[in-house]
Amino acid sequence: MRQRAAVSIESEVKRRRTFAIISHPDAGKTTLTEKLLLFAGAIQIAGSVKARKASRHATSDWMEIEKQRGISVASSVMQMEYRDQVINLLDTPGHQDFSEDTYRVLTAVDAALMVIDAANGVEPQTLRLIAVCRARNTPIITFVNKMDREVRDPLELMDEIESTLGIPCVPFAWPVGQGKLFHGIFDIRKNHMRVFTPGADRRREDDEVISGDNRDLLRSRFGAEFQQAEQEIDLVTTAAPSFDADEFLAGKQTPMFFGSAVNNFGVQEVLDALVDVAPHPGPRKAIEREVKPTEGKFSGVVFKIQANMDPSHRDRIAFVRVLSGRFEHGMKFKVLRTGKDFRPTSVVTFLSQRRDRVDEAYAGDIIGLTTHGGLQLGDSLSEGESLQFTGLPFFAPELFAAVELKDPMRSKQLQKGLMELGQEGAIQVFKPLLGSEMLLGAIGQLQFEVVQARLKGEYGVEVRLMPSRYSCARWVTSKNANDLRRFMDANVGRMVTDAAETHAFLATSRFDLDVMQKRWETIEFHPMREHA
Ligand code: GDP
Repeated sequence: MRQRAAVSIESEVKRRRTFAIISHPDAGKTTLTEKLLLFAGAIQIAGSVKARKASRHATSDWMEIEKQRGISVASSVMQMEYRDQVINLLDTPGHQDFSEDTYRVLTAVDAALMVIDAANGVEPQTLRLIAVCRARNTPIITFVNKMDREVRDPLELMDEIESTLGIPCVPFAWPVGQGKLFHGIFDIRKNHMRVFTPGADRRREDDEVISGDNRDLLRSRFGAEFQQAEQEIDLVTTAAPSFDADEFLAGKQTPMFFGSAVNNFGVQEVLDALVDVAPHPGPRKAIEREVKPTEGKFSGVVFKIQANMDPSHRDRIAFVRVLSGRFEHGMKFKVLRTGKDFRPTSVVTFLSQRRDRVDEAYAGDIIGLTTHGGLQLGDSLSEGESLQFTGLPFFAPELFAAVELKDPMRSKQLQKGLMELGQEGAIQVFKPLLGSEMLLGAIGQLQFEVVQARLKGEYGVEVRLMPSRYSCARWVTSKNANDLRRFMDANVGRMVTDAAETHAFLATSRFDLDVMQKRWETIEFHPMREHA
């Protein structure tokens, strides 16, 4: 019996592909996501991802901010089956003020799909995301979107992507023309051309596909654009390295695709690549040992907490990436941080965008545990073994604000609200060692607005955010416990603890920080904290 279970865990893990979709706002991430779901048969009607965005706005006050600014604040998870494979797609907020959330989502995936606007090339927000993927050696698949527009030269785009990524692009497909003269995509590996016709309702069965062996036909029909594409393909296939699966998996090559998401064009190729080349879940490092995805016992890590997704329930969902074993309905977990057992009220999966009850899940899958507390960002879960997974980053905030309560009678609600929002990672909440005024720390200004709106909408607390004299925070540790104690005593007015009760030091400027670092040589000042 045990052996049968082991075999099936292995085959289930092999069926999984878990990836994040990343881009600068407006490159077409939402559109591509929707088209991937459509092509995988997970949704019937185009427009429902947008509709989902819209209905979320309608149900939640703080989401008004998202609506007003036309940005996506919350990331979400979608699961679909395609060619007998289970694909988990994690959306990421495009706006840079929520980049911390995105970094954490990137720790939960095995690959990333990067969407580039062909008119704009690599944009600032993409650069930051690329840096995170590169630091983790996450394999990246590149999709150059909006070829139906007047866009930049594909060779130039390829150069730009290569130089910003610092790794070679391997074109799997190449565009024939662009804008009004966009004729289609030449599939270099399959040696055929898919002819472009605009329209959001088309499926791939409708497409005309012409074999690359019919050169004369292609040249006469698509004229100068085809001849140019032919020359470019010649150039890139001789100059670029050929695809090497190991290099790609090590984050050292990126397969490159072109298309037009809004016209459902070039989407199928990307979906196929996700199945054919993207990695299935691999082993993960815990402090104690390396954990294989095929191990019999369940383990997982909380990489995101989202509160009040359903305002009528006021619940919180902890998003857990399954790292090993099998999750089964009714299971209870051990939370390493508290040492306690935890049985969630319910566990959901995100199949076809509905929140369905999940009966089983395997490494690579994302499950949502409904909680009323008891779980924090970065928590490791297991069936009993002590396993602490690391790598969930918290960055030192660059913006600070002091919280002032308008109605002093509501201080209890404020504490609760701040504690929950801090645990969720919506903002960093610092409690001073001296005094009682809470301090908020953020990476982006919008985080303050979201927190202010949510405190009001979800906790009934109105606050004023006051300017703070601090501009820099560092988590402090030392190999010498005595030195650390002396440092904290000497600077007690500037010491705070965060949501995870870790000590941090506040500085008024970089200069101030430099001076302190020189003065206290045995103290380490960390700009980033990994949950541990
Ligand atoms: P996101 O911010 O990255 O999620 O971008 P969206 O998917 O919301 O797309 C931004 C805008 O670009 C929308 O108006 C889309 O309709 C449009 N768009 C997306 N894909 C294409 C495309 O292939 N061609 C053209 N012309 N417009 C597109």
